[in-house]
Amino acid sequence: MTHAIDHFQAWLREAHAMEIQAISLLKAQIGRIESYPELRERMEGHLAETEEQAAALHALLARTPGGVSLLREMAGRVSAAAQGIGSMMAADEVVKATMAAYAFEHSEIASYRVLIAAADELGDTEAIAVFERILAEEKAMADWLARHLDMVTRLYLMRDERDLLAKR
Ligand code: MG
Ligand code: FE
Repeated sequence: MTHAIDHFQAWLREAHAMEIQAISLLKAQIGRIESYPELRERMEGHLAETEEQAAALHALLARTPGGVSLLREMAGRVSAAAQGIGSMMAADEVVKATMAAYAFEHSEIASYRVLIAAADELGDTEAIAVFERILAEEKAMADWLARHLDMVTRLYLMRDERDLLAKR
């Protein structure tokens, strides 16, 4: 199972890098949203969850000698100009940011499904428990965004008509 362990470790490091990226995306978005307090609050809640997710993944990596040492290299590869950031100058910024967040949550969901399968192959029950917990949080966030894309869009359109501070 040497190859499976290597793949598992690599996917785990990638997931950790993804959560570090999620932290900066959420912080950037929270810092810019002004007229959509519900969205802002939900993102603040998910930021707190995401910080715990990153710590939990770090703890799993730390179980393996040398598991953490590769993290810095990984983090460097994560593009700062990731999804969401590029859309921040757009007039419809809040709509674009909500779309980007929805897409991001789904790539997280995909990553944890892969990690759960790999951990199951390795009989790593401790890791499965962590991934299942995180997966539930990502699904809850994705569901919330799915329900609120409609509201954010309508609110944006309404405010844009009235020339209020619609874009964020
Ligand atoms: Mg996450
Ligand atoms: Fe997430």
